[in-house]
Amino acid sequence: MMRNVVAIDGPAGSGKSTVSRIAAERLGFTYLDTGAMYRALTLRAIKSGISLEDEKRVEQVVASANLEFENGFVLLDGTDVTKEIRSNQVTRHVPTVAAYPSVRAVMLVKQRLLADNSAGIVMEGRDIGTVVFPDARWKFYLDAKPEVRAKRRQKELELQGKEREFGAVLEDILKRDKEDSERQTAPLRRASDAILIDTSELSINETVEKIITEIESKKPYAVSW
Ligand code: C5P
Repeated sequence: MMRNVVAIDGPAGSGKSTVSRIAAERLGFTYLDTGAMYRALTLRAIKSGISLEDEKRVEQVVASANLEFENGFVLLDGTDVTKEIRSNQVTRHVPTVAAYPSVRAVMLVKQRLLADNSAGIVMEGRDIGTVVFPDARWKFYLDAKPEVRAKRRQKELELQGKEREFGAVLEDILKRDKEDSERQTAPLRRASDAILIDTSELSINETVEKIITEIESKKPYAVSW
């Protein structure tokens, strides 16, 4: 099927979420934050009290989860968890849950289904251009210097009223990069045909412009319903 998928991958703090949301609005496409999916599953696993090291148990918790996305809100089993999934605890544990092949297999099906049900979708994550949609019409890989990414993350935390030392934030980011890129299944890496955008010195608007310009140079497929 010809799908209008914009795949945007990259590490934490590369600017993916903000840029993807704005690009989707500009294009009139659906926006899907796949990181929020893995975060919600991790929250469910933590709450259920199981050991996160036990893949079988985690898989069971994940398979029965009901995930919904509504106007920028993330609903887990009918409850709004938009804020809760950004907690430090979830952020720390999500790479463990996301590394399990069985968990990723369930998410892959959901993500493809969501794309099938939209005329166009901007999907951001770690493996969208490599595994979920290797044939995406547009692929981007956003990156930035670790120090810049840590600064952004620190600012984000500050806005949530959480003060954190720069060194600690940088360390967390580097640890998560390592976990996400060294796992066996669907590791974080740039697809060979993804356009690399280093956002270290770019504003949000400049990054969005680069993406939109690229998309306009390769028109979306006409989708008939
Ligand atoms: O994008 P965000 O930082 O919210 O993602 C949280 C975590 O979810 C990542 O660190 C990674 O472990 C996992 N993830 C993933 N594959 C995706 C999106 C996120 O493994 N497509």
